Amino acid sequence: MTNLRAKAVQLLKDNQYKEAIAILKDLISYAERRVREGHEIGVDSWPYRSLASIYRKQGEYELEYKILERCLNNPRVNGATHEAFAKEASMRIERHRLLGPDGKGQCHSCKERLILEKNESGEWLCGKCRIRMKPWWKFW
Ligand SMILES: [Zn+2]
Repeated sequence: MTNLRAKAVQLLKDNQYKEAIAILKDLISYAERRVREGHEIGVDSWPYRSLASIYRKQGEYELEYKILERCLNNPRVNGATHEAFAKEASMRIERHRLLGPDGKGQCHSCKERLILEKNESGEWLCGKCRIRMKPWWKFW
């Protein structure tokens, strides 16, 4: 499985998405089976993360959404990256439900209709406004 992971990394680098998708799906099924059978306490978020980003690049938002949900439905191994991803995934799932697959809605700040992201105060903002309104301590 380590070899498969290395292969997936290479395919992603080479933009060979079709083959990468197949391997990532295998890695996910394998990891979930290991958890179900009690060999592991949780799944690594990496294959889910990679698969979700491919789907996003391809505009397959429905598939992206499903893979994010699938990740959150499994116990995760510990780690800051996995926690950060889980947070991001929850935001995207909420956005999908709230704004639909393309994630576009009216920005709370500039009122333009753009792809939004939720900030820490729970406001939905476009990319530009998110940077502009970032609290000062985030710049350090
Ligand atoms: Zn805005």
